[in-house]
Amino acid sequence: MKKIVPSYVSLLSFLLCCIVFVNVSCAQEGEQDMKPEETEVWEPVPEKVNPNGLNDKAPPSDAVVLFDGSDLDEWESAEGDGSPAEWDISGDHVTVAPGAGSIQTRRGFGSVQLHIEWRAPEEIEGEGQGRGNSGVFLQGLYELQVLDSYNNETYSNGMAGSIYKQHIPLANAAREPGQWQSYDIVYRAPEFKEDGSLESPARITVFWNGVLVQDDVELEGPTEYIGHPSYEAHEDKLPIILQDHSNPVSFRNIWLRELGE
Ligand code: MG
Repeated sequence: MKKIVPSYVSLLSFLLCCIVFVNVSCAQEGEQDMKPEETEVWEPVPEKVNPNGLNDKAPPSDAVVLFDGSDLDEWESAEGDGSPAEWDISGDHVTVAPGAGSIQTRRGFGSVQLHIEWRAPEEIEGEGQGRGNSGVFLQGLYELQVLDSYNNETYSNGMAGSIYKQHIPLANAAREPGQWQSYDIVYRAPEFKEDGSLESPARITVFWNGVLVQDDVELEGPTEYIGHPSYEAHEDKLPIILQDHSNPVSFRNIWLRELGE
């Protein structure tokens, strides 16, 4: 008669199974003993914000309004000499006055949620980078490209929705020139150590006309037209710049919410 001797391996497997079973059972019993209240978190209570905007263009109640169609009081020339922003206001929007130069916010900002609407000229002039080009420079240094990218070939990391020469947008959500488009941006400013070296890079998320085109991407440094970017320590808060790239691009309904840590 053949004697059945259980191998050590089988025995070990059996013991392991027992341990796992007991552990899982205990965990489940522990969870069952918990009360619903034990996983409720009541503090802090988020501050009330009236979101607005469902049937109108009003920004959220806690937003810093940078432009609502009335004036450019929040803006100045990006020359930084305090001279006024000389772009043309008409109706609810402001349009780049080619040659007048870029404009910047009078106030500085760090991490922000930024909403901005823009429109490339209806009359198509130029091609590639020369058609409906402008830009939103976060902290005056990091460009989210504005370009007429409706049937307009150019390098992908320079089209609308791109972080210029750093990140290609995940999709081309362009509307036809002459139509209003929107960017909803979550921008996290870079942080620097005491010695000026980089603590954490800037990050950005962008929705273009509601379509996610930048998904929490890391910026390599300030935007460069030529060559590769690299960080240099800068102030925590810097003005936002809108670019004069010689094309009469229009903007409207510009607001932001400052983000904490
Ligand atoms: Mg540009």
